[in-house]
Order: sequence, then structure tokens, then C-alpha cells
Amino acid sequence: MEMHHHLRDQLKKLKMPGLYQALDMRLAESRTNNLGHLEFLSLLIQDELVNREDNMLSKRLKAAGFGVQKSFEDFDFRFNEEALPSSILRDLATCHFISQKQNLVIGGPPGIGKTHAVKAIGHEAARRGHQVLFRSTQKLLAEMQSDSSQRAERIMRRAVAVDLLILDDFAFRKLDQREAEMLYVLAEERLGRASTVLTSNRPPEDWYAIFPDTVVGGAILDRLVSSAIKIITTTGKSYRREAMRVENCPLGEANR
Ligand code: ADP
Ligand code: MG
Repeated sequence: MEMHHHLRDQLKKLKMPGLYQALDMRLAESRTNNLGHLEFLSLLIQDELVNREDNMLSKRLKAAGFGVQKSFEDFDFRFNEEALPSSILRDLATCHFISQKQNLVIGGPPGIGKTHAVKAIGHEAARRGHQVLFRSTQKLLAEMQSDSSQRAERIMRRAVAVDLLILDDFAFRKLDQREAEMLYVLAEERLGRASTVLTSNRPPEDWYAIFPDTVVGGAILDRLVSSAIKIITTTGKSYRREAMRVENCPLGEANR
């Protein structure tokens, strides 16, 4: 027992909580199954690694700022198959486009699952070890103009540097000169270096109109959109409306 306490303190010093938590269970397992020394040690090291990876994933998910988290596990691929083709979404979920530093644009009517899809992609990216930042475009622009210049600088630096920046609800409203300049910095700094994802309820041809002048607007959109993977749809059913219909109508399921 004393040995056990001693080991616990040592493992604490070494910051190996996963190993410590698994110790009793592995000891019992080792006795029951007559594990060799090496096998026993290898299992414990594996326990520590799994624990560390879990903790790092939680940190990355928290840092991404998804708010309500969404993943592909709770995404119905058949619901808007035509508007958001499952083959493309599954391909994006491999995060190959992130390694390729490609951008992604998803445009289409409200409620069709754009935000859900890009959060799910962000989740996959975090699982693969990528640093992700998710924000509504408005919120990020506001944060970058925070009264605390330290905070503003920090978020700007992160927005420039993360492996995957997701700007949700792009082109939601008109931007002023300062906001356009900040977007330009983001677009320019990230181009070819890291992936940026945009979602919007408006079609890309309407995006020029949100900028205070066409030169800056053109430069920004050229960098963010021109070579991006694009899923643009004008159709697509609202999942929200569909969910409401099913709830309100006892025969709702039959209507689907
Ligand atoms: P958009 O961003 O296109 O306006 P959202 O992604 O916010 O739409 O979707 C609206 C709601 O419907 C969210 O709660 C989302 O989780 C849900 N939803 C949308 N599409 C699907 C889908 N295919 N499977 C499961 N839930 C969905
Ligand atoms: Mg949305």
C-alpha cells in the first residue's frame, strides 16, 4: 500500500493522471490474465496517451468556441442531399482540404444545415489535431475591435493563425471601412497558408454590395472565394421548419 502511495505521488509529479487512474484496473487485469511486464507497462502507457489526447481534444473544442456543438453523428445526410451533397460533405469531413489550405464557401437559404455542417467539419478538424476558431462574422469583427486592445490583438492573432477559421453568416450586413480592412488582413494573411470557411444566407454575387468600396471588396472576395470549394444552393429545405411541422402535426412523420 505504501508503495502504491509513493507511486501515486511520483506519477502526480510526472503529470501522468491517466496512468494513475488506470493503475488499479490494469493491476487486476494483469493478475487475472497473467500479463507479462512489458504488456502491462505498454497498456498503462496507452492509458496515459488516450487520456492526454482526450484532454487536448476537449481543449481544442473549447477554444474553437462552437457554442452549441454539432457533429456529423447527429446530421441527417439525406435531409438536404441535393442542396448539400453527402459525397462532398463526407469528403470535407476527411479534412483533406485543410491540409491543402483550401477555402470553403457554403451559401444557401436559412435553416438548411449550413452552420451545422461547418461546425461538424470543425469538430472533425479538432479531432485530427487542428486548431479551429468558429465565430459568426459579426461577432469576430466586434471582438477584433474590443475596447481592450490586448483582447482585440489576441483574437486577431488567433484568427490569422488557426488551421481552420470558420466565419459563419458572412455578408449578413453592410460593413464599414475598418471592418473591411480587418477582413482584408485576415483574407490576405490566410490565403494559401490556412483554410477559411464561410457560410452565408446570401448568394456570393450579392456579397460585393456589403463592402464600403468595390476595390477592397473585390480584393477580399478574390482571396476568400475565388479558389474556394463552393457549395452554393438556392433550394434546400429548412430543417427548422420541417421539425416544427412534424411536432405540430400528429401525422407529421407520414408527410415526410
Ligand atoms: P443554417 O445555418 O443553414 O441556417 P442550421 O445549420 O443552423 O441552418 O440548421 C438549423 C437547425 O436545424 C439546427 O438546429 C441544425 O442542427 C438542424 N439541422 C439542419 N440540417 C440538419 C440535418 N441535415 N440533420 C440534422 N439536423 C439538422
Ligand atoms: Mg447558419
